[in-house]
Amino acid sequence: MTSIRHTPDTDPYFTPPHCPNQNCPFHIPGVPDWKWGFHGVYTRRSDQRSFRRFRCLHCFRTFSTRTFCSDYWLRERDLLPKVADIASNGAGLRQIARHYRVAHSTVARLIARGGRHCLLFHKEETKNLEIAEPIAFDGFETFEYSQFFPFHINLAAGRKSWFLYELTDSPLRRKGRMTPGQRRRRAELEAELGRPDPKAVELGTTTLLCSVLERIPTDQPAVLESDEHPAYPRAIRRVVREAEKVKRKVSAIIHRTISSRAARARDNPLFAINLADLLFRHSHANHRRETIAFSKRRMAAISRAQVFRVWRNWVKRRTENGGDTTAAMVAGVAEQRLDWDDVFRRRLFPGHAGLAEFECRYYAGQVFTAALGKRQQVHELRMAF
Ligand SMILES: [Zn+2]
Repeated sequence: MTSIRHTPDTDPYFTPPHCPNQNCPFHIPGVPDWKWGFHGVYTRRSDQRSFRRFRCLHCFRTFSTRTFCSDYWLRERDLLPKVADIASNGAGLRQIARHYRVAHSTVARLIARGGRHCLLFHKEETKNLEIAEPIAFDGFETFEYSQFFPFHINLAAGRKSWFLYELTDSPLRRKGRMTPGQRRRRAELEAELGRPDPKAVELGTTTLLCSVLERIPTDQPAVLESDEHPAYPRAIRRVVREAEKVKRKVSAIIHRTISSRAARARDNPLFAINLADLLFRHSHANHRRETIAFSKRRMAAISRAQVFRVWRNWVKRRTENGGDTTAAMVAGVAEQRLDWDDVFRRRLFPGHAGLAEFECRYYAGQVFTAALGKRQQVHELRMAF
C-alpha cells in the first residue's frame, strides 16, 4: 500500500523510484545501480510553484517531481479524482462539464485518462492476488452509438468478496423485438458495416476467464458460475484448448449454471454479479435505461467501466450498512478503504504493469465503434509512456 499523505510533488523527501523514459533500462523500478542527479528547479508560470528536477545519468532524460503525478501534463490539475467521483455517482458527461465549468470534451478526456489509470491501478494492486473463491461471470448488456449496436461488458466477480476481478467486451448483433422499419435499418447497416462476429461473446468470455484462471492456483479446482448462455460452455472449452496449445497448466474447471429465472436474492450464487450489474447501471449515467447519456463510443464505455471497477472494489463500501469494509479488503488486496485522492496519488506507468494483449488495446484506446466506419479517431497518447 502506498503512502496516503503526499503526492510526489508535495512530498519534500520524494526521490524518483525509476527513470520515466520507457526506453531506458532503468525504467523498471528496482534495477540496481541506477544513478540520477538533481537538475535544478522548475517554476510553473500559472501559480509560481516550484518543483525539483532530476536527470537520469544513464539516458540523460530530465524530469521533475510532476512527472510522477497522475495529473502530469493536465491543465485542470485537481479535476481527475473529482471527475472519477462524480462520474461514479450518476452524472453524465455534460452535467459534469456544467458543474465544473469546463468543456464536455475535457471531461471526456479526463474520464479516458481516469480509465487508463484505473486499469493500471487494478493491475498494480492485484499483482500478487490469488483467487480462493468461486467466480460468477456474466455479460452486462448495453449499447454504443445507437440501439443498433449493443455490446456486452463481460464481468467476473468473486462470490464471497464481490470483488470485480476482470472485465472484457463483446460487440453483439441487435436482437429482440424490432419493427419492420428497424429490421430494414439493421439490414442496411449490416450491408454497409458488416455483421458483428457471432462468436464475440464466446471470445470475450474466453479472454475474461483466461485472465481469471491465471490467478487461481493450479492445484485447486476453479469453480465458475454463470447463467445458461450457450456461448459459455464453448468459451470454457476454448480456454482449456488454448492453455493446452501453449502447454500452460490450468486448474480443473467446474462450471455450474444457474437459471436466469432464479430469484436474484442474496443466496443466488450469481448474487455478486447481479449486484455489480445493478450498481453499474445505477451509478454510471451512460447505462441507464432510456437515457440520452448513453455511450457514443464503446471505448468510452470501457474507460468508465475501468473507473467503475476501482470504485466498486476499493472506494465504495462493500455494503452500505457494513462499516468501512470494501470488496478489496475482503479479497485480501487492501487494508483500508481508499478515496479517489488515494487512487490518483501517483502516476502509474504502463511499462510496469505487464498488461495482457486485451488490456493493451484498452490502454491504447484501440476499441473501435463499428458505426463510425472509416471515421475512427484514435487519441494519440503523446505522454502516456
Ligand atoms: Zn533513463
